[in-house]
Amino acid sequence: ADQAREHGAVWEDHSREMEGSLDWKLSLVGELDAAMAAEDLWVAYQPKLNLRTKRIVAAEALVRWTHPQRGDIYPDSFIPQLEKNGRILDLTLYVLDRAMKQAQHWREQGAAINVAVNVSAPLLTKRGFVDAVRERLDDGRLSPELLTIEITESASMEDPERALEGMRRFADMGIRLSIDDYGTGQSTLSYLKHLPAREIKIDKSFVLTIEDSASDQAMVRSSIDLAHELGFDVVAEGVENAAILEMLRKMGCDYAQGWHIGRPVPARDFVKLIAQDAAA
Ligand code: C2E
Ligand code: CA
Ligand code: CA
Ligand code: CA
Repeated sequence: ADQAREHGAVWEDHSREMEGSLDWKLSLVGELDAAMAAEDLWVAYQPKLNLRTKRIVAAEALVRWTHPQRGDIYPDSFIPQLEKNGRILDLTLYVLDRAMKQAQHWREQGAAINVAVNVSAPLLTKRGFVDAVRERLDDGRLSPELLTIEITESASMEDPERALEGMRRFADMGIRLSIDDYGTGQSTLSYLKHLPAREIKIDKSFVLTIEDSASDQAMVRSSIDLAHELGFDVVAEGVENAAILEMLRKMGCDYAQGWHIGRPVPARDFVKLIAQDAAA
């Protein structure tokens, strides 16, 4: 595990091959407790750049599993199973605890980095989760302004009433809410405007191809304009090169995330990104 952490960037490049076969993925979930106890599960941080100030102001927490036999495993290979068997609550709290601790540590070092945690839809209204988050804020381990909860767009559509209710609870705690994977679901921004979210994240499927696709360009541009009219900040994910970054800047996008800015890396490498940023 340590070795993988050491070589975060390289590792990110070469280990997607493992995904695909199903049987081993099903047996993985049985190993969750052991993996958490052994810290084989860990959190990578990917920077979010403020396009106006050109500063790294936030980090998305992305879970990784460095399995002793299987090697490095990405979340798409185990999150869906954990959502089905109910263990997603434990995994989310595991990630949340580490992310909050990390953000507080950065805070103490003088860097106000807002940390974003991905939360699966069913957890939004789950009492155990809502209470656990409240407890963590009440004990003062992190100021709520430094915490974002990212919720996928489709989630807010499946059961709009309950999603709204759950989001209100977190918004009332002072947590920033973000609509993730925008554009992949059915929702219109005029529907989303009723949610107490502060930002929308345009899914990388539109951003990756923005240079060559006039329709993706139009989609991104109009989403940014309308989102702004409705009072949302806009984050673009999947920014893989400088040309895309420049395009987004011209379109008035607020924040950018992607390999061009920084890959998801272990916390200790993230610190180097902030340091470079401060020197630039
Ligand atoms: P997401 O929330 O949409 O996260 C963005 C994904 O895009 C991440 O994949 C990230 O590594 C990847 N990415 C970032 N920049 C670029 C880029 O420039 N180009 C390309 N091609 N990809 C980029 P990752 O880390 O494999 O995570 C996949 C999904 O797993 C996430 O999608 C999120 O929905 C879920 N996930 C990750 N961590 C957690 C977690 O702690 N809890 C829950 N519930 N879900 C998680
Ligand atoms: Ca996300
Ligand atoms: Ca996405
Ligand atoms: Ca997602």
